Amino acid sequence: MPGDEPPAGAVLADRSKLSHINTYGDLPRWYKDYHFICIDCGASQTWTAEQQKWYYEEAKGHIWAVAVRCRPCRKLHKAGGK
Ligand SMILES: [Zn+2]
Repeated sequence: MPGDEPPAGAVLADRSKLSHINTYGDLPRWYKDYHFICIDCGASQTWTAEQQKWYYEEAKGHIWAVAVRCRPCRKLHKAGGK
């Protein structure tokens, strides 16, 4: 079906590993690199498709959780720094 193919560079989702996510059938079918600006230091970051797959499927992260901080800032944040 046109428009139904994963975009270039996308990593296919394993939906059997997404059963912890309670949505109304709106599970992702693939992941792709997500570009964002760190909210703390303003660094340009990429959350790669592979990292998302791991986060959602292995770490059982919540589907609405998206990366907002770069790695160093995340460490600081978790440590209760900011
Ligand atoms: Zn940062």
